[in-house]
Amino acid sequence: RQPVAIIGAGIAGLATAARLAVAGHPVTVFEAGPTFGGKMHQFALPGGYRFDAGPSLFTLPQLVDDIFRLAHREPADYFRYERLDPITNYFFADGTRLTAWADAAKFAAEVEEKLGTPAADVTQFLARAGKAYDATAGTFLHKSLHKAGTYFSPETLKAVAALPQLGLLGTMHQRHASAFGRDPRLVQLFDRYATYNGSDPYQAPATLSMIPHLEHGIGAFYPEGGIYAIAESLHRLAVEFGAKFRYNEAVEEIIIADGRVTGLRTAQDVYDFGQVVSNMDVVPTYRRLLPREPAPERTLGQPRSSSALIFYWGIRREFTELGLHNIFFSEDYKAEFDAIFQQKTVADDVTVYVNITSKKTPTDAPAGHENWFVMVNVPHDQGQDWAALTRQTRAAVLRKLRQALGTDVEPFIATEKVWTPPGIAADTSSFGGALYGSSSNNALAAFLRHPNFSGRLEGLYFCGGSVHPGGGIPLCLLSAKIVASLIDS
Ligand code: FAD
Repeated sequence: RQPVAIIGAGIAGLATAARLAVAGHPVTVFEAGPTFGGKMHQFALPGGYRFDAGPSLFTLPQLVDDIFRLAHREPADYFRYERLDPITNYFFADGTRLTAWADAAKFAAEVEEKLGTPAADVTQFLARAGKAYDATAGTFLHKSLHKAGTYFSPETLKAVAALPQLGLLGTMHQRHASAFGRDPRLVQLFDRYATYNGSDPYQAPATLSMIPHLEHGIGAFYPEGGIYAIAESLHRLAVEFGAKFRYNEAVEEIIIADGRVTGLRTAQDVYDFGQVVSNMDVVPTYRRLLPREPAPERTLGQPRSSSALIFYWGIRREFTELGLHNIFFSEDYKAEFDAIFQQKTVADDVTVYVNITSKKTPTDAPAGHENWFVMVNVPHDQGQDWAALTRQTRAAVLRKLRQALGTDVEPFIATEKVWTPPGIAADTSSFGGALYGSSSNNALAAFLRHPNFSGRLEGLYFCGGSVHPGGGIPLCLLSAKIVASLIDS
């Protein structure tokens, strides 16, 4: 087994390190920051509050379990999780409140009671989403789309042929409007799933309307101790199988000779490696680490996904009407997405997501307090005045919460930290601070993501949210699986 270097200890870098170490490769992970996790890091605020900095919603935990099973280890010895029920509390702009129960039938009954849409419409929609997922996930997510064998396999042709019959042509919003046109609140609820990969429901293809199946068909989960436990468990496995982690050592160049990778250069040293996996965002990988190599400009030029403005608040009070995941919707969803993707700014009225892990892990906040992760979707950084947008958005968030909860939250903010798109870019090297690499705002987006390998440079591979199959924890884990299988094929 050849030695492999991995650039970056984000979740995909960790999963790749664990898989390759388990397969017997000597693995060295170079990480620019002081520890592992990347966007999935954790931090504390004064006063006894712990926060997961980035991801908060977790689906497809079996993709983590698979890695422990590969190592013949019992997953529960490393990492435990519970299935959430309810999943999310929704607060609509007209004052309606709705609980998204895990069970599809119970959720549909709640929709019928609170919104008036027949339960059967919801169960039918979710059942179709499940069918669509089963018909396409194997092809579009689990394999390298960029190998001829995948393109022309009978499975791929079957998956593509199934799309029209599953009602998956047009945009995501059109799909939801045709399913639930009489109820704009339900359309808004399902349109929100476009944000799970940083896209715009008014542009994203209808195929993304299968995302709710992940939550209501397969389940939404919470790892014991919080999301960072996922990174910790994979790091532990990788180290047990001999992977070495070099922190505070950013890679500055991938060394190429005669069309193949021969090593890496960092500020500290030069290292020989015939196989390198970049978990760094693909755009800066080409621009900074391979400045003399021709870059795949069309791929790198794809529109970026949305980013986020996050307010981390230590709250000196408990809100019993809130749960782990809470959504406070804007009044005009179209205007909100147009602001992000057309005007590259933030609307005056925004949808606010509040995640409170102390509801599940009480030690994340002192007794009688809560740790609020308050997130608004915003465009990626293109030089906007983020100080002004942060002030404006903070005021909008407080206004929305006051309307929905009937309480002014501001006096209860004991401590605060903010993460902006330029901050996300600086801390993780993600281009423009985009959360999910490129957006999925057109039907061909899946094919325009960078493959998990370089077609030009032998020995160079890519994993993580900016390449195939996409951003978010499950897809990052799948990118690691594909890379590990490419290296060992
Ligand atoms: P990253 O996490 O981007 O890590 C890359 C690592 O590479 C970093 O540690 C960086 O320091 C390192 N690096 C970069 N350049 C170099 C270099 N030159 N040398 C060495 N190291 C380098 N996903 C979900 O599934 N559910 C959610 O609810 C969710 N919510 C999110 C909310 C926020 C606020 C954010 C920021 C993200 C969210 N995501 C969510 C997306 C998810 O976090 C990402 O898709 C995923 O964590 C990205 O992992 P990655 O492996 O691509 O690498």
